Amino acid sequence: MVTGSAGPAGCGIAPPVRHASGEGFRDVMRHFPTGVTVLTTTGPAGPHGMTANAVMSVSLHPPTALAAVHRDTVTHGLLRAATAFTVNILAADQTELALLFARSHPDEDPFLQAPWRPSPVTGTPVLTQSLAVLDCHLQRRVTVADHTLVIGTVTDARVQRPGADPMVFSRRAFQTVTKTPS
Ligand SMILES: Cc1cc2nc3c(=O)[nH]c(=O)nc-3n(C[C@H](O)[C@H](O)[C@H](O)COP(=O)(O)OP(=O)(O)OC[C@H]3O[C@@H](n4cnc5c(N)ncnc54)[C@H](O)[C@@H]3O)c2cc1C
Repeated sequence: MVTGSAGPAGCGIAPPVRHASGEGFRDVMRHFPTGVTVLTTTGPAGPHGMTANAVMSVSLHPPTALAAVHRDTVTHGLLRAATAFTVNILAADQTELALLFARSHPDEDPFLQAPWRPSPVTGTPVLTQSLAVLDCHLQRRVTVADHTLVIGTVTDARVQRPGADPMVFSRRAFQTVTKTPS
């Protein structure tokens, strides 16, 4: 279904763009599998992280990564001041971590349950059991609708668990990759 309405003709204001319904968009995107990450940064209270799948590589030269962060999250507030973030790519056996960092933590420190160390390059938290890690210097923030795109130059890229299967998020469920026989 498409919603939205045209503005008055000739008023000098661009008419609103017709757009699909949010539910239709979500339904389509559920059919677009992604990896799952924990996006970490450091704030005044110490390490902070949130589960994120709106993460992508942007460029190889220089290596550049991007994450889309909702404006209502604590992470969003921290990334307004931060100079660095880390993308911790999760393995298929890390569902607990994905769920842990997908909820609010007003009274608990999730990093007590998730072993971590500061990145030697940026100082941001690296989850020691994550499958792979991108340390990023935060280069730009771009506000789009109710999210901010945080764009970072990758200063360090490491696979921590070679051979482990990546976690996949698709159709609202954590899954793993099944290789099709060739
Ligand atoms: C598979 C998966 C993928 C996801 N991908 C993404 C993604 O790509 N991008 C994304 O943005 N989210 C994503 N999320 C959701 C995200 O993980 C959760 O919203 C998470 O709780 C955010 O954690 P947080 O600690 O940053 O914020 P939270 O502490 O969880 O803050 C969010 C809630 O707290 C409230 N809040 C925020 N700041 C304050 C404040 N200063 N004072 C009082 N209340 C406040 C907000 O209203 C909101 O209800 C994903 C979740 C899952 C399960």
